Amino acid sequence: MKENVPYPTDQETLDSEYSPSQMVESLDDYLEEYAACSEPPSPGAFKNARFELKYGPHDRQFLDFFPAQSNGLGAQTRKPLVVFIHGGFWSALDGTLFRFPATYVNDADVHYAALTYRLAPEVTITDIVEDVRTAIRWLSEHAQDLGIDPDGIALVGHSAGAHLAAMVIADENAPQLAGALLISGVYDLEPMQKSYVNIDAKMSEAEAKALSPNLLAPKARCPVHICVGDVEPEEFKRQSQLMYDAWQPYCQDMTLQVMGGKNHFDILYGLMLPGSSLLLRAIESAVGRKCVTDHDAMRSYDEADMFARERAMFQMPEDVIYLDGNSLGALPKAAPARVAQVVEKEWGEGLIRSWGDADWYGKPLELGDRIGRLVGAASGQTAVTDSISVNLFKLVCSALEMRPGRRTLITEENNFPSDIYVLQGIERFWPGVDLKLVGRDGTLDELLDDTVAAVVITGVDFKTGANHNMSKVTEQVQAAGALMIWDLAHSAGAVQVDLDGIGADMAVGCTYKYLNAGPGAPAFLYVAERHHAAAQNPISGWFGHKDPFAFSTDYEPADNIRQFLAGTPPIVSLAALEASLDIWEGVHMPSLRAKSMRMGDLFIELVEALDPAYGFKLASPRRADTRGSQVSFRHPDGLAIMRALIERGVIGDFRAPDILRFGFTPLTLSYTEVWQAVQILEDIMKNETWRTVQQDRGHGVT
Ligand SMILES: *Cc1c(COP(=O)(O)O)cnc(C)c1O
Repeated sequence: MKENVPYPTDQETLDSEYSPSQMVESLDDYLEEYAACSEPPSPGAFKNARFELKYGPHDRQFLDFFPAQSNGLGAQTRKPLVVFIHGGFWSALDGTLFRFPATYVNDADVHYAALTYRLAPEVTITDIVEDVRTAIRWLSEHAQDLGIDPDGIALVGHSAGAHLAAMVIADENAPQLAGALLISGVYDLEPMQKSYVNIDAKMSEAEAKALSPNLLAPKARCPVHICVGDVEPEEFKRQSQLMYDAWQPYCQDMTLQVMGGKNHFDILYGLMLPGSSLLLRAIESAVGRKCVTDHDAMRSYDEADMFARERAMFQMPEDVIYLDGNSLGALPKAAPARVAQVVEKEWGEGLIRSWGDADWYGKPLELGDRIGRLVGAASGQTAVTDSISVNLFKLVCSALEMRPGRRTLITEENNFPSDIYVLQGIERFWPGVDLKLVGRDGTLDELLDDTVAAVVITGVDFKTGANHNMSKVTEQVQAAGALMIWDLAHSAGAVQVDLDGIGADMAVGCTYKYLNAGPGAPAFLYVAERHHAAAQNPISGWFGHKDPFAFSTDYEPADNIRQFLAGTPPIVSLAALEASLDIWEGVHMPSLRAKSMRMGDLFIELVEALDPAYGFKLASPRRADTRGSQVSFRHPDGLAIMRALIERGVIGDFRAPDILRFGFTPLTLSYTEVWQAVQILEDIMKNETWRTVQQDRGHGVT
């Protein structure tokens, strides 16, 4: 039997070695890295892996509680605790440690903890199980102090973490658990399971006991559910069945839960995202009690909301629940004073001197860089200027020039009309240009050929909220030799965008939607640095000139992103944008995106829990990561219902023919508001007040 690997014990080593630096930041990264893992390494590779021992002594090494501001542990009331045990066992061998990116959210009804374990070549499975068991025992012993219901500790394990959870549950020395939800991994973990259990034919019980000192209880004492989707690839189904077969003998109350319409990642994702309906339902079944979603729960979500500070920086009328921030963002409280300062001081007193003294001249690029940070663009590639419509014209024309001989443009039939109109204008004025629409004329696959110069696609569909996989589409378009131009109108400030990371060529986006810069605030554009030499702005105005104030006769473009400016920037609007970007400055986008997804999930769940006779049909993707920060429902009487909602202060909007659209701006909205909006919707449906709203008045439905 192997000796246990000693733990480092001095505080300094612990602090320096307990480093979360290998944590993946976003769910997208997680899934991407996950997908990138191909074969499990051979046992030989395991032995040769150089992996430093990372974790400290038993009583503190595994518990990876949430950051202080959202730490629900220690609350007065005793709540169930969900402990996540991550997978990524094999990947961890080459130094990539996956962790559930769920640790930052507190919850009204349950506590969450992510648990880590030692990973090093010398560490045996027995050691790792010991890690997990010790951590759970510690939690169980400290339940009282931590506000945990000691009878309500449930495990959620993924892949290797699922096997570890099963090992602990089946262990007679482990504390009593309420239940577990397991998701099988993609790799064949049978060897791992066998090497711990060792209750196979080859070994006598005594031998097994010698190897696995905590021999399994004959029957575990809590319900264990292995979750598998019915639309999984075969390998996931096979692995889930294997997991079931391996553990069923030790877990009396084990079921294979087949989840309709879901696949591995839906489930993984649903179980990782605190507050997701799947997780809540799972916990309910694991701990055998209801997790309420009520007004109090919402209040407590809001108290734990890490964006509560930002939320308070926006102005909102008392009687309004604003679900239209995706069309026109809310007013930053600091904006009026900032605008007044620009008007009264910089304009009123500084007059023309302010171009230099107040650096009006530098604003379009300075603010462009600040927006760039929110959409994954390194500095020097983003500028704030003009409208999306005008910027699109500039970029598409320059793309046509960069792809001589190619004269086809592609966009989507469902794109925002202005984007289509601009391309139609180019088609009309530029000889030989032919515009094709995905949908009307075929699929993107069918339309992409060697005549295509550029493809313009809006990242998040303005009607349904469907969120494109920007990376895949970019790759596909570029593989066909065309330039990819993204419209980020409904993405910037709503979903995670990584323009540099996906190698996008160009992009445009709004500042008056999620970025809260106010009506008519200028748009932004992005041109990847590698195109700066080749790209030419067809609106060669003086602000794009190398030296505008030299007033030379001939146009000479600036040699940076400035060349995409045209005329004088709208300085007063830029002041409002600046006030907003001050709030956006510290925003951690992955966390914001998590809140956006959670709000959408919550809204869908609450609306779908209403009487089905009301007749709402979800028009947005159900899966949060394929949805932007908005949720649309179809209803034949959608317009009247939206009018009734607006009369009651719930402002969403309507898109013909039958779409009720609700935007969830995660920076400005509270969970309570989402909940209240659905209460009001229910009231309108129950009392049928929508039938009596004035049909002939506009009510501001846009
Ligand atoms: C809002 C929006 C626009 C608006 O463009 P402007 O010219 O700036 O008014 C363009 N495209 C999309 C996809 C939009 O959602």
